[in-house]
Amino acid sequence: MTGTAAPFGADDYRARMERAARTAADAGLAGLLVAPGPDLVWLTGYAPTAVTERLTVLVLTPGRDPVLVVPTLEAPDAAKAAGTPALTLRDWTDGKDPYAATAALLDSTGRFGISDNAWAMHLLGLQKALPRTSYASLTDALPMLRAVKDEAELRLLAAAGAAADATFEEIRKVPFAGRKESDVAADLSDLLRRYGHSQVDFTIVASGPNGANPHHEVGERVIEHGDMVVLDFGGLKDGYGSDTSRTVHVGEPTDEERRVHDLVREAQEAGFRAVRPGVACQEVDRAARAVIAGAGYGEYFIHRTGHGIGVTTHEPPYMIEGEEQPLVPGMCFSVEPGVYLPGRFGVRIEDIVTVTEDGGRRLNDTTRELVIVN
Ligand code: ZN
Ligand code: ZN
Ligand code: ZN
Repeated sequence: MTGTAAPFGADDYRARMERAARTAADAGLAGLLVAPGPDLVWLTGYAPTAVTERLTVLVLTPGRDPVLVVPTLEAPDAAKAAGTPALTLRDWTDGKDPYAATAALLDSTGRFGISDNAWAMHLLGLQKALPRTSYASLTDALPMLRAVKDEAELRLLAAAGAAADATFEEIRKVPFAGRKESDVAADLSDLLRRYGHSQVDFTIVASGPNGANPHHEVGERVIEHGDMVVLDFGGLKDGYGSDTSRTVHVGEPTDEERRVHDLVREAQEAGFRAVRPGVACQEVDRAARAVIAGAGYGEYFIHRTGHGIGVTTHEPPYMIEGEEQPLVPGMCFSVEPGVYLPGRFGVRIEDIVTVTEDGGRRLNDTTRELVIVN
């Protein structure tokens, strides 16, 4: 997690914290306990440079001022965060009990939402200090907390998408045949940074049979003439995420490779066209999946169609069967169907899409035709 250069001020963070506390109350919670990570960045702009065993936690309780409990030695850093003017800093010094200090802020019989990535030792410490409290996963309790992006967030996501697109336009010109996957991945990483990313989260280069493994990261395999190569890359630019996939072919593809690529492109288009306000997330998955299943490749599409994106590159909402959450203007997520033929090759095409008032808008717009590389 790196700091965010996002153009948000104390008022933005105050509004986010108020909304989070209100939403928590609506969900029957006495408050939220937010650990360092994406929720804390989104709520306060604060990302500790190193997350240590010392307790840092944002306490949000409906109707009360937010409090950030921090170790004394990290308090000067925390004081610089853009959202800090909208909260009270309460520091604790080594040798003192941080759980007692936090417990003093909490309803002793309440149920609290706690960050999924909070350390178990901190949750255990709080439970020991307040044995009658109970806890729920913050993401389960408030899955849509960060899902609907405001105008400024959408601009940042669009800029991150444009930087990923610029990366693709460059990577398609580099030599593939005879180089290792890891060499092309290093190029991707350099390009993402050159186009403004401060953090690279993944640079998947999955050539030939490796392409049949959707999460194949990068290996030492030497890319050959005739390979399909799945490229999937992204990270954070100015605090907001990019994530795009294109599948390229080294030299002329076979008819089957072209057919499978066309199929995935059609599925991606169908998923995109399903996007509009009020439609359940699962309908986006169904629309993309129906195309692939209709062509007899259903069993080779082995993952959900998409995931949300914001201050992280994977977050709710998920475009998956069973997710009935309706789409709302401002939501941003991937539409990324794929076909994976074990031992042979894979194809995935992925764009980030945002929900508009009457449909969807892509934040990635490089060609979805099969690109031939050298
Ligand atoms: Zn081929
Ligand atoms: Zn991706
Ligand atoms: Zn993705």
